[in-house]
Amino acid sequence: MAIYWTKINKIVEETAEIKTFYVDVPEGFTWENGAHTHLALKGFNEGETPNKSLVRHMSICTLPEENAVGITTRIKEQCSEFKAILNTLSVGDEVALFKIHSNVPLKRDNKNIYLLSSGVGIATFRPVVLTYLQNQQDVPRVHALNVDSSGQYLFTDVFTADADKNFTVQYVNSRTDYYAEVHKLAGDANGLYYVVGSDEFLHENIALLMDNGVTREQIVLDKRERFIGRFFGEEVTM
Ligand SMILES: Cc1cc2nc3c(=O)[nH]c(=O)nc-3n(C[C@H](O)[C@H](O)[C@H](O)COP(=O)(O)OP(=O)(O)OC[C@H]3O[C@@H](n4cnc5c(N)ncnc54)[C@H](O)[C@@H]3O)c2cc1C
Repeated sequence: MAIYWTKINKIVEETAEIKTFYVDVPEGFTWENGAHTHLALKGFNEGETPNKSLVRHMSICTLPEENAVGITTRIKEQCSEFKAILNTLSVGDEVALFKIHSNVPLKRDNKNIYLLSSGVGIATFRPVVLTYLQNQQDVPRVHALNVDSSGQYLFTDVFTADADKNFTVQYVNSRTDYYAEVHKLAGDANGLYYVVGSDEFLHENIALLMDNGVTREQIVLDKRERFIGRFFGEEVTM
């Protein structure tokens, strides 16, 4: 397995609790929209076995042409060891990236796409939206819905409605408003519903979508194929 050590080249404070870390693109590191990677901190591979407390899955919120791997994360005051260390890092410090996989790329299947996210989950969709805005071929429409109780919405420069490109956006600050909107969106018998957030958020969305006639095949989750069945009440064999 290739481990790519690289340097932080910019840190943006999106809100008091949310930061985006931009790191140099290591040579040979490539990805497509909707990808995630493992972000690891110094020391993670120094023992006999990898120290998992120094590694987290993170979505890549940039496209390769932006010349940086962007990672957006929430760091609360009470946080894990991983986030506490990450919070002390500065430009020039090293982190490692390894294993890249894209579960939620833009699907050009002539179906409307609904991007449903909670909080920093919207970061996963930023490169998906950029890809769509660059080229709308075989995607009739994209609608993004994000719920963030802080009301401090992320990436509003990219998530801006564009009527010419059939791109619409809605940010809401309560789960009640969010689920009322999902209820309305669920009426599209051919649409694809991408959902990103905590497992609890995924379960709630899947239940609501399926109660409204959306099928399992229409729901796209940021999970490996072998774990998806769990979210649909299926037995999963490892
Ligand atoms: C495919 C995929 C993509 C992902 N993309 C992203 C992404 O882009 N951005 C992102 O932020 N996350 C992403 N995640 C989730 C990420 O991997 C972490 O699980 C998440 O960020 C929480 O990590 P953590 O270290 O804060 O919490 P964990 O250690 O997993 O703990 C969960 C929660 O417990 C609390 N907690 C933990 N330790 C302490 C402590 N010592 N004291 C007090 N409270 C504590 C914190 O509130 C924390 O949020 C992704 C996950 C997957 C599977």
